[in-house]
Amino acid sequence: MIDLIVEKMREGDWGAVLRLLHARTQTQTAAPAGVSYDLPPFYREFEDTYRQLYWYYGLCNSWGWGGALPPVALLLNRSRRRTHVAGYAKPAATAVNGHVYCAISITLNICACGNTGSLMTLLLHEMTHIWQFANGRRGGHGRDFKNEMLRLGVDEAGLRVRCGSPADHIAREAESRYPRLAARLRACMVSPHKSSRNMDYAFFRMLLESRR
Ligand SMILES: [Zn+2]
Repeated sequence: MIDLIVEKMREGDWGAVLRLLHARTQTQTAAPAGVSYDLPPFYREFEDTYRQLYWYYGLCNSWGWGGALPPVALLLNRSRRRTHVAGYAKPAATAVNGHVYCAISITLNICACGNTGSLMTLLLHEMTHIWQFANGRRGGHGRDFKNEMLRLGVDEAGLRVRCGSPADHIAREAESRYPRLAARLRACMVSPHKSSRNMDYAFFRMLLESRR
């Protein structure tokens, strides 16, 4: 079954992947603790990390926007190529059961080098783009963007966070809950296992399905 799911993932047949994952959960009886479905090796190794990132997104969403932002797919860019792009937000990146979702890509080569704080700065930056998309705004780094970052308490230029701001609360809560997240992201960089954008999307779909 695992092989079949991985094969379908490679082919990009997401409908089949979902049906197979669903069939797995239906036929699952006594799975060992913590193992209830099969994932490709990289996703098994870093399932905790992906889940923590989605938790982090939820944390930023609730402190920053009162939970008003829609779910988005989180993509890990593990390329070691030198780049200045720490991440990007993509509107209408994927569709699940007729609903369209945006995506945020995180460049680990940049974000995993710092602490969880630099990851937060990136997430809040890209989530502000998600906020623009969700509200029919144009995107970009114009006045609405700058005001939003100011409201959140992020000073990107100085990589500083205003005391008592939403960003300040997020940073504290994330640091106390998952202090090892940045280290896990660095571990993602050196894993021998393969990951891909399509498998990242499949993981997102699986999370959405399992929340039902
Ligand atoms: Zn931007």
